Amino acid sequence: KVNQEMDRLDSLLPEWVENSRPESAHGRVAVYIPELSKAQWDLLGISVLNADGRYSEAGDTEFCFTLQSISKVFTLILALMDHGEEAVFAKVGKEPTGDNFNSMMKLELIQPAIPFNPLINAGAIVISSLIQGDSAQQKSERILQFFRKLAGNEHLTVDSEVYRSERETGHLNRSMAYFLLDKGILEGNVEEVLDVYFRHCSIQVKTADLARMALVLAYNGLNPLTGEQLIPRRYVQIAKTFMITCGMYNGSGEFAIGAGMPAKSGVSGGILTFVPGRLGIGVVGPSLNAKGNSIAGVHLLERLSREFDWSMF
Ligand code: GLU
Repeated sequence: KVNQEMDRLDSLLPEWVENSRPESAHGRVAVYIPELSKAQWDLLGISVLNADGRYSEAGDTEFCFTLQSISKVFTLILALMDHGEEAVFAKVGKEPTGDNFNSMMKLELIQPAIPFNPLINAGAIVISSLIQGDSAQQKSERILQFFRKLAGNEHLTVDSEVYRSERETGHLNRSMAYFLLDKGILEGNVEEVLDVYFRHCSIQVKTADLARMALVLAYNGLNPLTGEQLIPRRYVQIAKTFMITCGMYNGSGEFAIGAGMPAKSGVSGGILTFVPGRLGIGVVGPSLNAKGNSIAGVHLLERLSREFDWSMF
């Protein structure tokens, strides 16, 4: 049955990617990080991977892009592995915000000023401060090694142009971090914490890397290709829940209804998603909809989910 599904994907994907690609015309490539604005607007690629290591792919799967917010799922997991649930949730909440990913509005209203969840920027910056390591460099290195292991790709690296672009223009993230320092939520050297954050957002991948990272989540932390348990099951359960409630920004409810799959998107147009117990999926399409998700990517995934009955609800 599993192979039948892969055979059908092989025959459908090329045509369906071309059907979804024109949707990109109705969206916009992110420009607030100058380097991202250079991406070609009508790219669209998808990689689907199953537990036998079989890929089904179509479209622009050779396109390299940065993880951006997708990285936040995995830094959360690493922070949980470093400190445990109690310590992490003393510093970030568990609820969606309804505000923009880079908003700090609600932080002013609550006492203590704990970011609502680890997937918005304020929460993810706090998570970056929790990664263990003696220096910013060592923390970044640990993150990179963890991501390489999950992606089964020793060649993952930071895109230095995007990193520099983010560091130079990330004034809002910087202000958020200093605000959190003032409130006693963020500890340590703010510039170093931001450096760790900007670097993990700037790690470069292709859709196949996303699919492989997603497959580990689909199998509750086990890498089915190697038999190695890379993440404790409980932490995947937590990450998965956040992906459903806030993984697609303020479009999370819409995507849960439309596709019903745990997912995390990023401003570069990537989407990491999976079918629990079955498939890991990576998509990229740089043109974003009003909610900040890849417009063609969401179109394609919703269509596939309906066709293959992938919704978990
Ligand atoms: N590095 C980006 C930022 O901090 C991540 C945003 C995103 O992908 O949502 O603005």
